[in-house]
Amino acid sequence: MSKIAKHDVDRLISRAVAVRDQAYAPHSHFYVGAAILVSSGEIVAGCNVENASYGLSICAERAAACAAVSASFHSWSAIAVASVGGVTPCGACRQFLIEFGSDVTILLVDVIDGGCREVKLADLLPDAFDATKIPKHP
Ligand code: ZN
Repeated sequence: MSKIAKHDVDRLISRAVAVRDQAYAPHSHFYVGAAILVSSGEIVAGCNVENASYGLSICAERAAACAAVSASFHSWSAIAVASVGGVTPCGACRQFLIEFGSDVTILLVDVIDGGCREVKLADLLPDAFDATKIPKHP
């Protein structure tokens, strides 16, 4: 089980569920909210924003990550993702998120039944390409 305090888990999930209401998903109608608990205790959230071109759509996880970085938060403890079915982050999001640490706890929240499954980002993207794979320049 998570090392994240119960009250932090509760408020993280609450923010992910709440920001899901802001999702812009007129094409898929698949609404997703994500909230990131940063190491200092603040929570930053984001929702998916679709585009008619589909390819330019951005997932809630990446929207939240960009909001966190924009607020100078680069160290995260956990991310909650709220959706129907409690889906896992897509491949692009897994790669995007792992830039900020593989030990991040991911809480997958099903907004229908309230269930929550916990995984580690490293388990979702084993042998990830990250900064350790880039040769150092002298
Ligand atoms: Zn994604």
